Amino acid sequence: MNTPDRDMSLQVPRQPKGWSSSLCSDEELLDDDDPALWQDEGLSNLQGSVYLPDSGRLSVAAKEDNSQLIAVIKMGWLDKNPPQGALYYQRRWVKLDVDYLRYFDNEKEVYSKGIISTAFITNVSCAGELKFEVVTNNRTFIFRAESEAERNDWVTVLQDCTRGRHPHSTTSFRSPLTPDYQGYLELRGLRSKLYTVVASDKVFLYKNMEDYRIGVGITSIEMNVGNVKDTDRRSFDLTTPYRIFSFIAESEQLREQWVDAMRDAIGEALSNREVAERIWAEPSNSLCADCGAPKPEWASINLCVVVCKRCAGEHRGLGPSISKVRSLKMDRKVWTEELIQLFLLMGNERVNSFWAAHIPPSEDLTPSSCSEKRRCFITNKYRQGKYRKYHPLYGNQGELNSALCINVQSSDVLETVRLIFCGADVNCSTGMASWPSPLSLANAHSQPLQAELISLNLNTELPRSVEGEAMEAVHYTAPPCVSHNGFLFKTASMARAVTERKAREEFSRRWCTLNDGTFSYYESDRNSNPNGALKASVIVCLAVDTPEKHGYEHTFELYSESERLYLFGTDDPDSHKEWVKSIAKNFIPATAEPLLRLPFERIGRLKCKDGLNLQTSKVGWFALVGSTLHAYLADSKGEEIHLRKLNELSIQQDNEVLVLVERGRTLYIEGERKLDFAGWCGAIQAAAGSGGDTLSQQQLTETDIPIIVHSCIDFITQCGIQSEGIYRKSGVNSRVAALCERFRHDARSICLREGVHQVDDVSNTLKRFFRELEEGLFTSEDANAWLSTAANQDESVKISQYQLLVKRLPRVNKATLQALINHLYCVQCFSELNQMNLHNLAIVFGPTLFQADGKDYTAGRTIEDLIQHYILIFEVDEQQLKKQLEVISFIINLRRKNNTMFPSTEPGGHFICTVYVEDGKDTAEQHVKIPGSMTAAELSCEVLDRRNITVKDKEYWSCWEVSDKEEMERPLHYQERVLPILHSFGTDSHLLIKKHIAMDAMIVYLASKVDASKHGMMKFREERSILGLGLSSGSFHDRYFILNSTSLRMYKEIRSNRPEREWPAKNLKVYLGIKKKLRPPTCWGLTVVYESKKQEKPEKQQWYLCCDTQSEMREWYATFLSIKYDGNVWPQDGLQQMRVSRALPDTRHGNVSLIPLRGSENEMRNSVAAFSQDPLALFRDVR
Ligand SMILES: [Zn+2]
Repeated sequence: MNTPDRDMSLQVPRQPKGWSSSLCSDEELLDDDDPALWQDEGLSNLQGSVYLPDSGRLSVAAKEDNSQLIAVIKMGWLDKNPPQGALYYQRRWVKLDVDYLRYFDNEKEVYSKGIISTAFITNVSCAGELKFEVVTNNRTFIFRAESEAERNDWVTVLQDCTRGRHPHSTTSFRSPLTPDYQGYLELRGLRSKLYTVVASDKVFLYKNMEDYRIGVGITSIEMNVGNVKDTDRRSFDLTTPYRIFSFIAESEQLREQWVDAMRDAIGEALSNREVAERIWAEPSNSLCADCGAPKPEWASINLCVVVCKRCAGEHRGLGPSISKVRSLKMDRKVWTEELIQLFLLMGNERVNSFWAAHIPPSEDLTPSSCSEKRRCFITNKYRQGKYRKYHPLYGNQGELNSALCINVQSSDVLETVRLIFCGADVNCSTGMASWPSPLSLANAHSQPLQAELISLNLNTELPRSVEGEAMEAVHYTAPPCVSHNGFLFKTASMARAVTERKAREEFSRRWCTLNDGTFSYYESDRNSNPNGALKASVIVCLAVDTPEKHGYEHTFELYSESERLYLFGTDDPDSHKEWVKSIAKNFIPATAEPLLRLPFERIGRLKCKDGLNLQTSKVGWFALVGSTLHAYLADSKGEEIHLRKLNELSIQQDNEVLVLVERGRTLYIEGERKLDFAGWCGAIQAAAGSGGDTLSQQQLTETDIPIIVHSCIDFITQCGIQSEGIYRKSGVNSRVAALCERFRHDARSICLREGVHQVDDVSNTLKRFFRELEEGLFTSEDANAWLSTAANQDESVKISQYQLLVKRLPRVNKATLQALINHLYCVQCFSELNQMNLHNLAIVFGPTLFQADGKDYTAGRTIEDLIQHYILIFEVDEQQLKKQLEVISFIINLRRKNNTMFPSTEPGGHFICTVYVEDGKDTAEQHVKIPGSMTAAELSCEVLDRRNITVKDKEYWSCWEVSDKEEMERPLHYQERVLPILHSFGTDSHLLIKKHIAMDAMIVYLASKVDASKHGMMKFREERSILGLGLSSGSFHDRYFILNSTSLRMYKEIRSNRPEREWPAKNLKVYLGIKKKLRPPTCWGLTVVYESKKQEKPEKQQWYLCCDTQSEMREWYATFLSIKYDGNVWPQDGLQQMRVSRALPDTRHGNVSLIPLRGSENEMRNSVAAFSQDPLALFRDVR
C-alpha cells in the first residue's frame, strides 16, 4: 500500500455550498456531505492538525499490521447513494468484514467515511439498475455496482454475513461492542462533538449517541498503532501513522479519563498481539482451521485448532465440554508456554489431517459461509467427528487406552489427539502405582506438551453421531448469550430465608425472560416493562429446593448481592430444570464452568480463605451435590471437599465464618452477605451430617471408618477394656437411644468423655449401630457367603475364602470391619480382666453384625473365625499389633494404679497424673484427673484455677512436655490432647505448667511474615545408633535448610540444587534443647523427632539442629509451630477464654449384668436371642 498523501476520512469534501444546508439529513451528516458540520475557518487548522507531515514517521511495518487486523471478506468499488437520494452517486471503496461494512473515499484510505455494524443489518436485497439495499433498523443504504454479477455477489456475501445472526429477536439489537469508556468528545476542526467509544483495542467515532445505539458510525481506529499524549489542559492527541486526531475533552478531569482509557486500549492492542503473532508463526495457523479466513484470533485449546471469530462463535455453541474457546488476544492468562508450544507443534494443517480428513466438497466452509452452514459444519466436525480420520484401533477400548499410555511418553502429540478423539480414555488406569494416569505418566516422562493436551481434555465429551434434532436440543449456549423465557410462579421477594411452606396462593404467575445476562419478570408476556430484573452479575446463589417443599412442586431460590431472596416455582419439572440451568449458566464464570454439569442443589459464589494465605480472601465458586462440595477457588483447578469426611465443621465468629477442616487443610468461608451465607451454612451442615442408614452414608474418618464406630471403639479402648462383661452388659436404654440419635445427627460433634458417658452405654451404642445398619456390615448380597465359609473344615481354605470376601467388600465396609475386628481382638486379649473371651464376644457380635436372631451359632462362628484369624485374614503387621496391645496394657496399669491411689474419688477411674507447676521460683505438684478429651489449654486452666494463679495480659501459660533424659522440652499446642502424650511418656518425662516466655516474640515474628516459611544455615547432627547399642556417633555440620508449608529440606550448601534430605514438615515434632552429651556448638539447639505414621512402615528418627543466636532459634521454632498448626499457634482470645466447665459425672446405674457372664453356652445363647428380640423386656425382667 502506498503512503497516502492525504488521509482524512473526516475531510471536508469540496462541494458546492448550499448543497446541504437546507437538505440536511442524518444520512448526510453521517456521510461527509455537510460542510456545515465543519468549521469553515478551521479548515486550515484542520489540515494542520489532521494531516500528517511527510516526516517519514509512517512505518511500513505499522501499516501492514493495521491492514492485517481485519479479515476482509469482500472489497471493491461501489457507488453509494447520495444523501436524500439526490442526483448523483458517490464513488466509494467498500470493504466488508465480519463485523462491519465500511466505505472509504478510495482504496488507500485507512479511516472510513462510514461504518455499518453487520450486527444491525436486518436485510440486504437487490433493487434494480445494478443497485442493492442494505437495510438497518433505522436507515437504508443504497449501493450500485458496476455489473450485475458484481452486484449479486455483494448481495450474497452480505446476506451470508448477516443471516442467522439473530434467530429470535427482531426487536432489539445490541452493539457487539463492550465499551470501556464512552462519551462526547470534540474533535478539533469539527463543529459538533462526536460520540466516541473506546472498546477493547479500538476507538470508534459516531456522529452522536443515537448512531452508536443503532450501529452506524464514522470510523474505527485500531489502537495498536496509536499513541496518546496530552497537549493542553483539556486537549490531547491520538496519533497514528496515518493521522493525528486532536481531541478536546469537556474538562481537565475528563481529559485524564479519556487519555487513560485510550492508553489502556493501546496496551490491550499491543500486549495481546504477542500470543497471536507467535501462534501465527506456524503458517497454517494464520488461516482459520474451519473456514480458512485469514488471521484467526481465536482457538479451541483442547481441540488444538486456531479459528476465526465467527467459527469461534459456533465452537462456543458446542459447549466447553466439547470445545474450550479462548482468544489469542484477550485470554492472556491461558496461554502458557506449553500451550503455545503445543499449538506451534500441531498447527492447523497437521491437526486437520485428523479432524478434516474426509470433507465432501459440498460441505466445506469458506470465510463467507453463513452462520447456519458454519454451525452445521462445526457440529459435524467436532461434535460428531464426521470428517475425522479413524484410528486403526478405533472401537477397541483396551488397546486405545494402552496405546495412549505408551504414546504419552513420547513427543507425538498429534497421535495423542488421534487417540483421544477416537475414544482412548484420558482417565484410564495405567496399571502403574506410581503413575496411575496417562497425565502422571506424561509428566513423569517429561512430556509437558502431552500433559497439557491431556489435562485440557480430562472432561471432554468425545465425538459421536447424534440425530439432527437431538443435537439442536442440547446445543449449548455460552454465558452472556444464554436466553430463555417462559412463565414461572413467583412470591414476593424477601429479605430473610424461606422457612415456611409457601402455598400456591402466595405465588403469582409472571412472564420471565433471561436475556443478555439479565433475568427479568413481567406482569404478562405482553408487557414490555419488567416488574423487576436481576442482572446475572448480582446473583450470588441459586438454590434448588427439594420437590414439594412449597405449593408448586418444583421451586428454586435466587439470592442477590443486595440480600434479597426470590422464590420461583413451576409444576413442570422440565421447565424447572431448564430455568435452573439457564440461570446458572448466566452467572457462573467460565473458570468454574464444570460446576454447571453437576446436579447441584446449590451453586454460587462465596468469599473464602485457605491454605497459608489467611490475610486475603478470594472469591470461590461452589456447588453442593449430595455430601460433596465442589469448589473453584481463584486460579485453581476444581476440587472436591467430602463433607462427611471433614475433621471439623463449625461456624465461628458470631456466625460469620464457616470453618471446614479437612486432612491437611482448612477452608474458611466468610459470610460476606448474611442471607445466602446462612443458606450455605445450613445446607453444608446438613450435607455433612449422615445421609442415611448405610455405612457409606455416615460421617467418616480419614480412613473411611464411620465416626460413630471410631469414637465408640476409642472410648472403650481408653476406659472400658477391663470392664467386666463389656459388650454383654446392657446400658441404660434411654441413654443408648439418645446417644445413637446424637451420633446420627452429627457424629463429629460428639466427644465421648469419661465421667459423662458410661462404658456400657457406649458399647451398646456401637452394637445398636451395627444391628440397625441398612444392608449390614457384610452387605446383604454376601452375608450368606460369609456365614457358609465358617463351615469349611480346612483352615487354610477357609482363611483364603475370608480373604477373598474381605476384598469384595466396599471400601467403607472393609475399613470398618477391620477396625472392629481389630478392636475385638484386643478386647479378648484382656479376657482375664473383662471375661470376654473369643467365644463370648462371638456370641454377642455374631447376631449383631449379621443382624440375625442369634438362635444358632452360625453367625457367632464366623465372627469367632474373624477374630481368631484376624492376623492372617487381614494381613496384619504383628509388630504393630503388639505395640497396640502394649499401649492398652499401659492404660490398664495406669488406671489400676490410680484407682488404688485414689480409690474413693471415681469408681470408673480417670487418669490421674501428677502435673508440676512452676510459679516464680516455686515448683508445686498437683494431681489432676485427665479425661481423654482434655486439651493442653484445659489442663493449664484447671491447674492455674486450682492454685489460684491469675493469668495476666501477655503471659503465655503453657503445658510443657519435659524429658529429663533427653534434656529437652516442648510446650504442647493448646489444642493438643494431653492423654496421648501421657501414654507416650517413659518414666523420665513429666508435664510442667509454666509460662512460655518466648511466645510473645514468636507471635510478633509470625505476624510480620506473609507466610510461614524460613531458610538459612543451621548446624545439623543425626543420631545414629552403632551396632544397635543406642550409642550415638557423628558431630554437627553446617547445612542449609528451607522450611515451607509442606516440607523441611536440607541442602549441603546454599548453591546445591538437590536436597540431601527432605521431611514432611507437619510430621516433625520439635523440642527445645539438646542433650549436653552431644556437645552442641551453641546453647540454642532444637531436637527434632520425625515419626512417619505410614501404616506399612512406621519409623522414628531423632536429630538435632543448632542455631547461632537465640532469636534465630525462636524464629525457626515459631515457623515450625505455625506450619504444624496452620498459623494457629495461640488461642485468639487468650487462655482465659478457654476455661471449661466440666460436667459432673452422673452416678452409675443400670449396669446390671443382663446376660449371665458365666454359664452354659445354651443359657447364653438363649439370653442373647431374647435380648436381640426385645431388649427392653429383658431389662424389665432383671430389674
Ligand atoms: Zn473460520
